[in-house]
Amino acid sequence: MALLRHTTGTVTERQALTVNPAKTCQPIGAMYAALGVHNCLPHSHGSQGCCSYHRSALTRHYKEPVMAATSSFTEGSSVFGGQSNLLAAIENIFTLYAPDVIAVHTTCLSETIGDDIPQIAAKAREEGKVPAGKYVIHANTPSYVGSHVTGFANMTKSLVTYFSDWSENRLRTVNIIPGWVEPADMREIKRLAALMGVEIILFPDTSDVLDAPQTGTHEFYPRGGVTIQALRRTGASQATIALGPTASAPAARELEKKCGVDSHILELPIGLRATDAFVDTLRRTAGVEVPAALVEERGRLMDVITDMHQYFYGKRVALWGDPDQLVSLAGFLADLDMKPVYAVTGTPGRAFEERMAKVLAGRVPEAKIRQGPQADMFLMHQWIKEQGVDLLIGNTYGKYIARDENIPFVRHGFPILDRVGHSYFPTTGYMGGIRLLEKILGALQDQQDRNCPEEAVELVM
Ligand code: SF4
Repeated sequence: MALLRHTTGTVTERQALTVNPAKTCQPIGAMYAALGVHNCLPHSHGSQGCCSYHRSALTRHYKEPVMAATSSFTEGSSVFGGQSNLLAAIENIFTLYAPDVIAVHTTCLSETIGDDIPQIAAKAREEGKVPAGKYVIHANTPSYVGSHVTGFANMTKSLVTYFSDWSENRLRTVNIIPGWVEPADMREIKRLAALMGVEIILFPDTSDVLDAPQTGTHEFYPRGGVTIQALRRTGASQATIALGPTASAPAARELEKKCGVDSHILELPIGLRATDAFVDTLRRTAGVEVPAALVEERGRLMDVITDMHQYFYGKRVALWGDPDQLVSLAGFLADLDMKPVYAVTGTPGRAFEERMAKVLAGRVPEAKIRQGPQADMFLMHQWIKEQGVDLLIGNTYGKYIARDENIPFVRHGFPILDRVGHSYFPTTGYMGGIRLLEKILGALQDQQDRNCPEEAVELVM
């Protein structure tokens, strides 16, 4: 807190220093994607410290136990490589924990050493350490490049590389890659597809894994997650809809290249327009009609937007977090006549600034959008000190700015360490849009109630 009180209001361009980055480690995303496969145990090929940190980051956000194994590197492995540790780990994991899949991701250390995971996995199979019908897959996820989002993208792409089968016989199914969203969003995407009568294969799928109900019995592998059989069939689907270019496009493109499955790469269906684009693409791809029930959900969202427009109009908003989330959020806010004036992400790649410019379509000419190592929370705070905002939207790391500057704060994205609800209530789809509006309005109106003069307190708002 003291650190933030010393944040200067004058922005000095920095070349090398990052202060409070707007991203985290690649392996966290690889772990999250692997947890969306049924009977899969994520495995961190590196030191115990990395694995503990990555598991705890997921546990703190989802408030659920997160199972993962580690190669437990010692000084010896750091010098001579981690092959013997991984061979022993593969044998022990299949013997003790009996997963169908071990999803290995690397860390900074094993990448720097240069361990060749496919070679080690092949050796494990040759030595009989991988039982028949079981799999070891991998993704390279050094944290000195990329972020948790690219880690998710890399592991999701690996699901295609390892499992999708080419087929002459096309099925009626449509693949949907949901991007890094909450388990509740994955459930909502499945509900929308079911409402439209479309048979989908959603992968990865963390619903019923990281939001599993309390039954009184601990399930080491919860009932959710996409199955290996379903992953195999993704190569025979009609098409793939990839939600979020940063998190989902690499897997969709790989599926197109490997199995000839057409891909449609969309922004995350957060807000009215992005949800319209998703529903319309699903409708056209599957050749179905949009049911009346879904049209009514859309109408309810429209109703809240029009009823409460006076509270949204002209409000300046600062956003930080993951690019796919930020692009859709910024577009939604601009559609509400709000002004997303600042946005930062530490996740590299995929033309973030151009995508933001496209969704804003010139409606917020004063917007400052930044991506990369110096697009951090320190810069965000400096911008806010230069010219304030009415609302903050982002992960928990914004709470210090919210407190220091007394600005209403809506938690959204990853990680949320200090509130619950995010994993249970979707923000995707039309109903998710209403949930977002409710949170935004609640934050703005609570602030108005707190700060307005006594004679201006409104009972009915
Ligand atoms: S930055 Fe690298 S070494 Fe540090 S926790 Fe992340 S993966 Fe491990």
